[in-house]
Amino acid sequence: MLSVIEVKCPHCGAQGQIMMPPLGAIIIGPCPQCHGLVVIFCGRVLPLDGDIMQHGATRERREHLMSVLTRFLEQNVAQIIDSLSAELNKISQSAGPPATEPAQSETAGDLSDAAPSIPDTEVERFLQQELPMLDDKNYFRAIFG
Ligand SMILES: [Zn+2]
Repeated sequence: MLSVIEVKCPHCGAQGQIMMPPLGAIIIGPCPQCHGLVVIFCGRVLPLDGDIMQHGATRERREHLMSVLTRFLEQNVAQIIDSLSAELNKISQSAGPPATEPAQSETAGDLSDAAPSIPDTEVERFLQQELPMLDDKNYFRAIFG
């Protein structure tokens, strides 16, 4: 499946669409408008320092790219932790009342009894009628054709 994502140059604001890069891909390239260097990571376009990336030493380039990606991940992780804390707070707050739940678990057996199980006659009918049809190519043609 081909999917396209909307991207916006963090240098000049130029907008466009690109093919969704493969999962985990880190793609570095220039903006077609301003030729500013960007890195595309997890569907996001992050600005790179063109001077460092083009003229810096290997170690400088590596550190610059790492710091850009790390900052992006740090922001994401911070958001995740924030919303996770909120979720966990909700859970721990609502965890108080249902302390009586183990007593109710005995009645849970009634639920499974009440749940309609497939009658044996249904199973037999399936075995007799449906299974032979699986070999019948016309049967599939009728469904998928
Ligand atoms: Zn640009």
